[in-house]
Amino acid sequence: MTALFPFDNSFARLPDRFFARVVPTAVEAPRLVRLNRTLALDLGLDPDRLESPEGFDVLSGRRVAEGAEPLAAAYAGHQFGQFVPQLGDGRAILLGEVVGRDGRRRDIQLKGSGPTPFSRRGDGRAALGPVLREYLVSEAMHALGIPTTRALAAVTTGEPVIRETVLPGAVLTRVASSHIRVGSFQFFAARGDVEGLRALADHAIARHDPEAAEAENPYRALLEGVTRRQAELVARWLGVGFIHGVMNTDNMSIAGETIDYGPCAFLDAYDPATAFSSIDRHGRYAYGNQPRIALWNLTRLAEALLPLLSEDETKAVAEAEAALTGFAGLFEAAYHGLLNRKLGLTTMRDGDPALAGDLLKTMAENGADFTLTFRRLSAAAPGAGPAPEPEAVEAVRSLFIDPTSFDAWAERWRRRLDEEPGSVAGRQALMRSVNPAFIPRNHRVEAMIEAAVERQDFVPFETLLTVLSHPYDDQPDFAQFAEAPEGGGRGYRTFCGT
Ligand code: AMP
Ligand code: MG
Ligand code: MG
Repeated sequence: MTALFPFDNSFARLPDRFFARVVPTAVEAPRLVRLNRTLALDLGLDPDRLESPEGFDVLSGRRVAEGAEPLAAAYAGHQFGQFVPQLGDGRAILLGEVVGRDGRRRDIQLKGSGPTPFSRRGDGRAALGPVLREYLVSEAMHALGIPTTRALAAVTTGEPVIRETVLPGAVLTRVASSHIRVGSFQFFAARGDVEGLRALADHAIARHDPEAAEAENPYRALLEGVTRRQAELVARWLGVGFIHGVMNTDNMSIAGETIDYGPCAFLDAYDPATAFSSIDRHGRYAYGNQPRIALWNLTRLAEALLPLLSEDETKAVAEAEAALTGFAGLFEAAYHGLLNRKLGLTTMRDGDPALAGDLLKTMAENGADFTLTFRRLSAAAPGAGPAPEPEAVEAVRSLFIDPTSFDAWAERWRRRLDEEPGSVAGRQALMRSVNPAFIPRNHRVEAMIEAAVERQDFVPFETLLTVLSHPYDDQPDFAQFAEAPEGGGRGYRTFCGT
């Protein structure tokens, strides 16, 4: 019989000081909440077998799958600006890697499967609520077209976890292009372990930037690759109103995937100063600060890489700076390109960033819902051919406290669209393909978690998951899931999901 997971592990081949070998802790009474069958198939796995007792014994950590080499990775990180030289997988265990049907290598990791040598004061466990949040939001991000870790399965453990209250425990099976973080490099740099640093960088190049191996300076090319992916990722977060919430350097993936869905949340009313996380008192990780923080984190990565960039310190700094200067241009190009598409513009003119910026400013002043404004704008886009329905225009206007402030902006938008080629139908279709109707609205996610945790009712989880797997379709039967919460969602708080 073939293996449940055809593991082909590369991280486990790295030197011993990269990780601690540790097996998951067996749990009492595992129950499969959900298996992501589509993802299982993409990974070349057999979903029926994964759903059988043999499969969910592995997904709950009761049994170590054949070929797995379970380990907890070591990493460091800046948490809210403070450097912590040793963090590491405190409640995650990497089982191994599989190469999917698309030829891409992916980590299979259990999260919440028991303590590791890096658990510090933690219990190594995860509560059901945060597991369902990560499953739902990461899969929603994927459906939105945003690079992210994925969720292969969620399992309840039948064991309690103690937080402020007693909660049901759960394990998430996370899939990622890798779990290498900025903090992974910082771990070796902080110890002056240049050989470890080099081994990690070579591993990262082989996995994520194979062409960098051919570059004149492969480590600078790696830094450029990470910088480019991060600039594009953050632009896409902004495009859907996503606030990561805890952009510590240990939560920034070298692969350019969104990782660590702890206190993340989505904007309702547009306000770039929004920070939902209860521990982010100074708004360090606020919506509009995310590009700046990404660059700050990349600067920490560059510092860690200095010993590899050149033997000559001055030259190393120059190489690092040259790679990092690319960030602003890459981010601006990605962000303004996306904003233009969100406005139905396929060409780029000098005044376009100001046009988009003025809409955002007017939205902020008028408490306009971010997602609804852009989605409704798609139906209100004028162009050659019949004028948009007055109701479509009114649907956008009514989102603004002072609707005439929208009218003034819309007049400029119309004049700009007059200079654009293409039919109105094509323009509206383009806009619908970048302006989602459905995002994981915070109030819906909270209600879903409450139903599962308080009443063992997983129907809201399944329903939300279904709706969010087609975020760009209208889905009139689920129109209520597109609605904004009362009061624009102000006062919403998230907590570091543990
Ligand atoms: P995070 O804020 O989720 O990025 O986690 C920061 C660090 O705390 C990481 O090293 C985690 O592995 C660790 N951690 C978080 N929750 C737990 C827990 N319940 N048990 C052990 N370690 C944890
Ligand atoms: Mg983390
Ligand atoms: Mg976390």
